[in-house]
Amino acid sequence: MSLIDKALVANRNYAKTYNPTQGKRPAPKIAVVTCMDPRLSDLPGILGLPHADLDVIRTGGPAVTEDVLGELVVSTHVLGTTEILLLNHTGCGFTTFTDAELNAKLSASTGDASPAPMRFFSYKDPEENTREQIKKVTSHPWIAKDVPVRGFIFDVETGLLSEVQSIAHQAAD
Ligand SMILES: [Zn+2]
Repeated sequence: MSLIDKALVANRNYAKTYNPTQGKRPAPKIAVVTCMDPRLSDLPGILGLPHADLDVIRTGGPAVTEDVLGELVVSTHVLGTTEILLLNHTGCGFTTFTDAELNAKLSASTGDASPAPMRFFSYKDPEENTREQIKKVTSHPWIAKDVPVRGFIFDVETGLLSEVQSIAHQAAD
């Protein structure tokens, strides 16, 4: 049985004890942009905030793409979140290749180069990646200036978060 088929069976049981009040309109308080890496999945544990408060946007890396910026605009203007947390991590799979390498590898292994060059948003340094994310988000005209935007790196060895100062912050220090 595939994992998806197993999940469908489990869902029948989940629905038996599901609390229908959870289906009401959500009111998240903070937008969290983080990597699709499963080690970042326990956000209520990592951040000590309830599931209901978190508006989670996940991409590989994470990459702050145009789509992610659109989601942050909706999150802060429509859903009502008032802070933005950019959550990177150590040991990310997206630091293990470059876009050019993966494009070449997949073109060769599949025999079809037509999707190349595909953007995978690979990167090398999580701190630099975080600083670029802060800049992208804070410079967007539709992200209100009074919404705090802070970036962190989750250490997968220790479980600790460390804050990354934005370039503007560093210059002021
Ligand atoms: Zn990652």
